[in-house]
Amino acid sequence: MNATKVLGETGMIAQAMRMAYEHRPQQIEMAAAVEKSLRDKAHLIVEAGTGVGKSLAYLVPLVLWTREGNVRAVVATYTKALQQQLVDKDLPFLKNVLGDFRYALCVGGENYLCLRRFDYLRIGNLYEQNEIEPLNRLFAWSTMTKTGLRSELETEPLPGLWAKACRQADLCFGKDCSYYKDCFYLKAKSIEQQAHILVANHHLFFADMATGGNVLPQFKAVVFDEAHQVEDVATDYLGVEVTNFSVKYLLDTLLSQRTRKGLLTRLTVQDAEVQILRGMVDGLRVVSDNFFLNLHPFLSKEPALRIRQRNIVPDILSEPLMELRDSLLELTPDSQEEELEVKAFAARAQSLASAVRINLDQSAEGFVYWAERENLRYRLVASPIDVAGTLRENLFGKADTVILTSATLSAAGAFTYIKNRLGLDAPTELQLDSPFDFEKQALLYIATGLDDQQASGYQERFDAELKSVLTITRGRTLVLFTSYGQLRKSAETLRKELPELGFLCQGEMPAYRLIEQFKSVPRAVLMGTASFWQGIDIPGEALQCVVIAKLPFAVPDEPIVEARMERLKNPFFEYQVPQATLLFRQGFGRLIRTKTDRGAVVVLDSRIMTKIYGKSFLKSIPKCRITDERERFSEFFEALRK
Ligand code: SF4
Repeated sequence: MNATKVLGETGMIAQAMRMAYEHRPQQIEMAAAVEKSLRDKAHLIVEAGTGVGKSLAYLVPLVLWTREGNVRAVVATYTKALQQQLVDKDLPFLKNVLGDFRYALCVGGENYLCLRRFDYLRIGNLYEQNEIEPLNRLFAWSTMTKTGLRSELETEPLPGLWAKACRQADLCFGKDCSYYKDCFYLKAKSIEQQAHILVANHHLFFADMATGGNVLPQFKAVVFDEAHQVEDVATDYLGVEVTNFSVKYLLDTLLSQRTRKGLLTRLTVQDAEVQILRGMVDGLRVVSDNFFLNLHPFLSKEPALRIRQRNIVPDILSEPLMELRDSLLELTPDSQEEELEVKAFAARAQSLASAVRINLDQSAEGFVYWAERENLRYRLVASPIDVAGTLRENLFGKADTVILTSATLSAAGAFTYIKNRLGLDAPTELQLDSPFDFEKQALLYIATGLDDQQASGYQERFDAELKSVLTITRGRTLVLFTSYGQLRKSAETLRKELPELGFLCQGEMPAYRLIEQFKSVPRAVLMGTASFWQGIDIPGEALQCVVIAKLPFAVPDEPIVEARMERLKNPFFEYQVPQATLLFRQGFGRLIRTKTDRGAVVVLDSRIMTKIYGKSFLKSIPKCRITDERERFSEFFEALRK
C-alpha cells in the first residue's frame, strides 16, 4: 500500500468518499513527497495553496509509515481549529479507510485536573470565598469525568481556581504519587505512548524541546502544519521572562495574601523555620511590588520598551528570592510528598531569581531585552533574536524527518526567507498551487491615492474609500487592519455613515462570537487586526470581500523586530518585505475557501502599485483579475448578485 495509490482516483479514499471525492493532482504530489522524505529520512518544505487537501496529503503517508515501522510521529498545528479537524474528522475517517492505527491528542499537563492538588485544595481550605460555588461544581464534575480535561467543562473554571487544581509539571510526583492509579494525566500519557500519530500544537512541541523531551513521547518524524508560525512560537519558548504576576503566584501559593493559607500552612511540621518563612514571603511581596514599580517610569508612555542598558532598575529582587529558596530547602518536611513540593517551590524561586538576573545584567548572548506593561502586569523579557541556530541543532539535527507545510511559506516565489529564519538547510522543496480557479473566482481591486499614510487628510480619504467599498459590497466584508487605533477610528466614522450595516469589531466580544455573528447576520462587516489575518475560515457567501487596510509591515521599533533587522545588511528587503508578504498572502487567503466561492480582495494601500517592493506582494498571490477602477469593482459585485 502506498500513499499515492490510497489517494488516487481508484484508491481507498475515493471509494470511501464516493461522490464527495475530488481528484487533486497537487494532493497526490504532496503525498508522494511526504512519503519519500519519511523513507529517505530527509526534511521537506511544502507550500500548498488552499484547497489542496494537505492534511490528508501528509496524514496518509504518515499513518502508513508509522504503522509499518511501529514508530511514532507528531503532527503539530498552530490553531486549535485545525487540531480539532485532524482529531475529530480526518484521523477517524482514515481509521475507517486504512484499518487500525492509533492516534492521540496531546495537550499540556495543565489542562488536566490533578487529583492530588485538588484534594489538598479542598481539604486544606486553600480556596477563597468566591471560589466555593465553582469549587463544588468542579468537585461534582471530577467524580464523573473520564478524562479530567478542562475542555470538557461546560463553564470555564475561574482561572485562579483551576491553577490551584491542575497538573503542574514540577508538582507532579508521577509514579511516586499516591493518586497514581486514578491520575487522569498519567492515563493520557499511557495512551500517547501507544499511539502512532500524536497531534499537538506548536506550543506543546516547543515546550517539549525546551525541556529536553519531557513533554511528548519520543518520535521519529514531525509535521508542522501552519508552519509559517514556527519562528514566533519558538522565539516565545526559548526566551526568559519574569512578571510581577509570576512572582505573586509563587508567593501566594506558599502563603496567600488574602486567605493566609498555602503550602506553608499545610506542612505537617509547623516549626520556627516555617514561621520565619511566612514573614519572608510577606516581605518579598513588598520587595517585588517595589521592583516592578521601578519599571513604571520607563513604561508610562510606551507599553513596550527595548532595554539597551544593563541594570535599568536596581536588582532588589533576585537575592531575596534566592534566600527564600535557601530557607525552603532548609525545612525538614514530614513526608516524601511534602519534601518534593518544597523542593519544587525552591526551584521556582531560583528560576525566577535567575530570570531577574539574566534580564538585568543582559548576560545571555544573542538576546534582545525588553519590558512590557499591560494594565497591572509588568513583564521583563529576554528573547532570542535568531532561533535558527537552536532549531538547526535541536530540531532539524535531531528528528529524522521534519516536514514544514502551510499555504504561505514562500516570498517572491522562493523559500529563502523562511529557511534562513528557521535554520533549515537544504531541504527538499515543493510549491503547489491551489486547485481553485482564482482568475474566475476572484478580483483584486487596488484603490488609488492612498500611498502617503502620513499626509494630512489620509484617514478621511481612507474612510471615504472604505465607505464606497462597503456600499458596493453591502456588508459580507472582512476588513483587516494593521493597527487597533485605525480600526477604532474607521469603525466610529463608518458606524455613523453606514447605519444600515452591522459593524462587528475585534475587542467588542470574543473572536469566535464575532465570527458566528458575522456568518449569521446579513450586511455585516467584520473588522480585525493581527490574529484575524490568519485564523479566519468563512467559506460560502457570508464572506465575499476582504479589505486589506495597509500592507502589513511589522512595526520596525518593536523590540524583537528591531533587533532582528539590526543583524541584516538590507533589513527592509531581507526581513520586512518577505515578512509582510507572507502576512499579506494570509490575508488574501481568507477570501476563497472553496471552489464555489467568489469575491474580491480590496487593497487600500496604493504603495502596492507605486513602490518597487509592491511587485513582491503582487507576485506572491495567485493569478487573478486586477483593477484600480472602482467602477469595475462595482460591476463585479453586480454580476455576483445576479
Ligand atoms: S501523578 Fe501528578 S498529576 Fe497525577 S494526581 Fe499525582 S501529582 Fe497529580
